[in-house]
Amino acid sequence: MTEHASSAPMNLDETETVRLAVYHGFARTGQAPGLPGLAALTGLAPDRVRQELRTLHDSHDLVLDPQDNDRVVMAHPFASVPLGFSVMGTRTLWWGGCAWDSFAMPHLLRDEPDVLVATRCPACDTPHAWVVGREAPPQGGQVAHFLIPMSRAWDDVVHTCGNQRLFCSTDCVDT
Ligand SMILES: [Zn+2]
Ligand SMILES: [Zn+2]
Repeated sequence: MTEHASSAPMNLDETETVRLAVYHGFARTGQAPGLPGLAALTGLAPDRVRQELRTLHDSHDLVLDPQDNDRVVMAHPFASVPLGFSVMGTRTLWWGGCAWDSFAMPHLLRDEPDVLVATRCPACDTPHAWVVGREAPPQGGQVAHFLIPMSRAWDDVVHTCGNQRLFCSTDCVDT
């Protein structure tokens, strides 16, 4: 559990209720639930949900759209915007956040013991796909490249995740 900003007024139970509702919404539908959906799911007033979303944003438990603070862009490993990876389950399609996030999904999705993760090499456009389960890492000689150092990952986490990609080889990374 992440530490919460101490300056904001908060109720830990309500914060956690909203956090779980965001995760359940993402897990079930592949999309972030909106403010009315979160209010309905949690039984909290929309203004209260909005406050809790801000608390969760400040504590890095999720990421809000800077243009629309009612909209959740990421709750790792889930994303509501394309970042280079798709993750296909038996009935649901998710945007995978990044090379890490996409491969983490079967561990969070109770009903999806494995998923199909797909991406394109950012250098040469070659398609890559893996069936990813919970037991072992998938086979493959591809190379992961992380553009932003972890110490600066949260300066702009959407940009960070959008640049954690998988390439065919080190030659493609160099390109
Ligand atoms: Zn990520
Ligand atoms: Zn390539």
